[in-house]
Amino acid sequence: MQNPGLSLDQVRERAARIRCVFLDIDGVMTDCKLYLGPDGMEIKAVNVKDGLGIKNLLRNGIEVAVISGRPSEAMQRRLEHLGLRHIRLATEDKLPAYREIIASLGLTDEQCAHMGDDTPDLPLMRRVGLALCVADGHPKAIAASHWVSRYRGGDGAIREAADLILEAQGIDA
Ligand SMILES: [Mg+2]
Repeated sequence: MQNPGLSLDQVRERAARIRCVFLDIDGVMTDCKLYLGPDGMEIKAVNVKDGLGIKNLLRNGIEVAVISGRPSEAMQRRLEHLGLRHIRLATEDKLPAYREIIASLGLTDEQCAHMGDDTPDLPLMRRVGLALCVADGHPKAIAASHWVSRYRGGDGAIREAADLILEAQGIDA
């Protein structure tokens, strides 16, 4: 759903310009839960539907980039397997990484979307042309977004956002 104050047509207009989608991991690609093993190992679950949404974007020439505060070797492998070329894990301050990636791609803020769930995402959400938030996002992230998914983080929110962007660009994926 679009945020109050913005019509769905206005959201689609913004979505039609997007050439790169930035994603947060915890709370967006996952449900934000960490299962802590006795040996210190962290387990998190990803959603295959979201993986398909990411592949659909990449297949249609829309870049997907991930910037996350937490390091995770398993997540790095998953993202590489999906075909992502821009992966910045263990990156607390997201804005410098964002600037570097869009400069390397030759894109403007208006051509970028960011999907987040919490306050560390706010600097990016306030900057990009299309700010997306998951259904169970922090109230401040919801308030900063142009559009909120019906699905929760880790439960298909990325797939829903990918469909929105592709449909706005007339692509049936
Ligand atoms: Mg998060």
